[in-house]
Amino acid sequence: MEARPVLWIVVPCYNEEKVLPLTAPMFLKKLSQLAEDGKISRNSRVLFVNDGSGDRTWEIIRQLAEEHEECLGICQSRNRGHQNAVLAGLMEAKDRCDITISIDCDGQDDLNAMDEMVEKYLQGAEVVYGVRSRRETDTWFKRTTALAFYRLMHGMGAEVVYNHADYRLISAKVLQHLADFEEVNIFLRGMVPLVGFPAETVYYERNVRLAGKSHYPLRKMIALAFNGITSLSVKPITLITTFGIGFSLVGLILMIWAVIQAILGNTVAGWTSTVCIICLLGGIQLISLGVLGQYIGKTYLETKHRPRYIISARTWEKETRRWIEDDSPRERTEEKQT
Ligand code: UDP
Ligand code: MG
Repeated sequence: MEARPVLWIVVPCYNEEKVLPLTAPMFLKKLSQLAEDGKISRNSRVLFVNDGSGDRTWEIIRQLAEEHEECLGICQSRNRGHQNAVLAGLMEAKDRCDITISIDCDGQDDLNAMDEMVEKYLQGAEVVYGVRSRRETDTWFKRTTALAFYRLMHGMGAEVVYNHADYRLISAKVLQHLADFEEVNIFLRGMVPLVGFPAETVYYERNVRLAGKSHYPLRKMIALAFNGITSLSVKPITLITTFGIGFSLVGLILMIWAVIQAILGNTVAGWTSTVCIICLLGGIQLISLGVLGQYIGKTYLETKHRPRYIISARTWEKETRRWIEDDSPRERTEEKQT
């Protein structure tokens, strides 16, 4: 029999007890269909990453893993955010499979796009981006803010694929190289293109969330955009410098004007312009300091080399604790009780 690639579907889950029971069977169905079509190996798996959920998500994942051989789960020691959860899953998968597909667990991304993704991989692509062709099912507010997000990213020099979220196929080969990106502030959408290798796109329609609610309110979107920009580009600094030069020129003109007004004996006008200059320069300085501060802050964080994720449990490993002594006091008390 001809060899087929082993696929691992990586699914980040944060407080998804409502939606997971609905979507998990969909992932399993897709996996078996892809295997039946002869596109992937029968040893393919779905890997759920519990991102420190506060609800029953991890219990559900553990149960899925018990009931289905194809289901696996890892649990992060605490909530670390979507990007870190996806990265944790991908890094866990990279030595155990040939290809990964990361997808949200809420059923918004069309699973049928996976057929085409795997097809493109078989044809030679190492990365396949899932791109939303329409956003009609999102609210007007979500669409507008999302568009603003991409515009801002591009304007600030961060290279991202338009309307591509984190639904993508990445080969194990690319993941080996992605692992070398040791930064702590991660923005996968910007990092994957940096790794390189042949890439393709697949278009799909985005549906509404099957259950539960979105974890990406406007506040988190702005934080993601800001993180993306400052992680990928130094354009804000350049921009601030440009602004600085522009405002200084305006200030110079104002100063000449103020001097002329003073010579003419019009002191009130002179006072106004001075106030203008002070305000302008003060403003510029504050913004510049703020932006510079962001980069310094990031440098500080990067130098710490903190782990990006810590796995506290795996479904395929027994949750046992090793005691220093076999005859530990705890065991003895348990014996007494029984
Ligand atoms: N998610 C996560 N950690 C978080 C927030 C979200 O792992 O801190 C997961 C979530 O379970 C989902 C995916 O990331 O599978 C996308 O989140 P969501 O659907 O809430 O975002 P939206 O699609 O509304 O942008
Ligand atoms: Mg979603």
